[in-house]
Amino acid sequence: MSKFSVAVKRFGGFLKRNAFYLLVIFLIASVATVIALAVTYNQNSDDVVGNVQDVPVVKPDDTDDDPPSPPVQDDPVDPTPKQTFICPCNGDVIEDFSSLLVWSESMKDFRSHKGVDFASEDLKVFAACEGTVKSTGYNRLDGYYIVLEHANGYETKYMSLSEPALKVGDKVSQGDNIGTMATTQGSESVKNAHLHFEMYKDGAPIDPIAMLVLDEK
Ligand SMILES: [Zn+2]
Repeated sequence: MSKFSVAVKRFGGFLKRNAFYLLVIFLIASVATVIALAVTYNQNSDDVVGNVQDVPVVKPDDTDDDPPSPPVQDDPVDPTPKQTFICPCNGDVIEDFSSLLVWSESMKDFRSHKGVDFASEDLKVFAACEGTVKSTGYNRLDGYYIVLEHANGYETKYMSLSEPALKVGDKVSQGDNIGTMATTQGSESVKNAHLHFEMYKDGAPIDPIAMLVLDEK
């Protein structure tokens, strides 16, 4: 028997005598290997989860920078002051504007009254608005009269005056004393001294009461 055969026989005997222990060692090693693999896998999984959580998530609408608000514009200031018309005397209305036909005691007929009649104790007549004397004169129906031309197509006409001192082209300011009430208006001759006041917008008669700021002077 060769030395090799002897060594094989001894190893075979070793295996037979210690088979149980070798099996136990193998099982323990196998279990340990499985545990080691499982732990490693869990660590890798934790790393993956941790990496996902560590990455900051930016949502498109999750920003602190709000879009800039459009600039607020103030209302543009009208460079031209509002045009106002004041009462042309210190008195009261004695007959209203009427586009319908009304009986005229002076003329003994029906006719429209395209103006407002005022009467006042001091008889003073004022410019209702700043303007320029467009015409002035006398005729039997209107008596002495003044026509003022104003901005924006307005005109005011003052009738039944005493002879006025103004002439065509004169500039007047709002509230200027431009004349005196009288009884010169033939078409309203039965009335006492008064002012027959008319207003026109672009040549068409309008009711002055709708335009006047009726403040006492
Ligand atoms: Zn009148």
